[in-house]
Amino acid sequence: MTAQIIDGKARAKQIRKDLKGRVSAFEERAGRPPGLGVILVGNDPASAVYVRNKERACEKTGIRSFHHQLPEDVTQQHLEELIDQLNQDPEVHGILLQLPLPGHLDAQPLMLRISPSKDADGFHPVNVGQLAVGKPVFVPCTPLGCIDLLRSAGVPLQGANAVVVGRSNIVGKPVAQLLLAEGATVTICHSKTQDLAGHVGRADVVIAAVGRPEMIRGDWIKPGAAVIDVGINRLDDGSIVGDVEFAAASERAGYITPVPGGVGPMTVAKLLENTLEGALRIEQYKLQD
Ligand code: NDP
Repeated sequence: MTAQIIDGKARAKQIRKDLKGRVSAFEERAGRPPGLGVILVGNDPASAVYVRNKERACEKTGIRSFHHQLPEDVTQQHLEELIDQLNQDPEVHGILLQLPLPGHLDAQPLMLRISPSKDADGFHPVNVGQLAVGKPVFVPCTPLGCIDLLRSAGVPLQGANAVVVGRSNIVGKPVAQLLLAEGATVTICHSKTQDLAGHVGRADVVIAAVGRPEMIRGDWIKPGAAVIDVGINRLDDGSIVGDVEFAAASERAGYITPVPGGVGPMTVAKLLENTLEGALRIEQYKLQD
């Protein structure tokens, strides 16, 4: 079997196109565009690239981004004041604090300070809890992107055996919750899991979110399974690979996402969607799709 490639770039483009109309309808009714406040601290090159991509995508969709670039040595108090200000700002409907932060800063209280109603990343414990009780409000973007790709490819989730490799708060745990909500039977694997190959081999759906180049071997994959590779790993030669051994897995899987061009673009598209949805909730407009 040769897997069908799930093209995340194309799907993300479609989402952005659909959003554009909804964003301009929002602006017409609300008198202002949806706004995303972005906080970037220091000079981490990878973070700068992510933030630039997100801001460009905002611009193209008609969402206004408010960029706050702060020096490496900014104080915790200064950041707290900025978050308070963004929480109050009626032009800002979503707030994104780009992680990681420099070592002298404590990310957790800052994440807690972001108003749950503007928590576009869905990391605030209130939103984590909403997802856990089956009443999602803001859901983290990468997990949303994974489910969207599975749905858009027509992969059946109800009753499927899904294996999530990785249990982080930003990918593994929330994607497992979403799969559960779709009616899948979910197993979460992590660094202490025994017989990872056995678990993966029984999965109709595999989500790999580890951060280790090609650690999920192609010959583990159950024939016909859907494989979503969240991992982004830069090799010494500068190339980027996922957590799944792509070429070998493609021979067995029914569906597979490439890296790059799979989940990555979906994360940005879902951030834009979250920002618009947040703006709609705040402005209490019920615009039609
Ligand atoms: P974390 O480092 O926070 O979590 C990694 C998880 O993998 C942990 O739960 C860890 O287990 C588990 N793990 C580590 N080694 C093994 C192993 N040998 N076997 C099984 N599980 C293992 O990573 P993130 O969740 O933040 O990110 C995962 C990957 O996804 C990274 O490559 C990251 O760059 C990428 N990513 C991509 C995004 C995108 O937009 N495409 C967005 C976010 C992340 P334990 O908990 O036991 O330590």
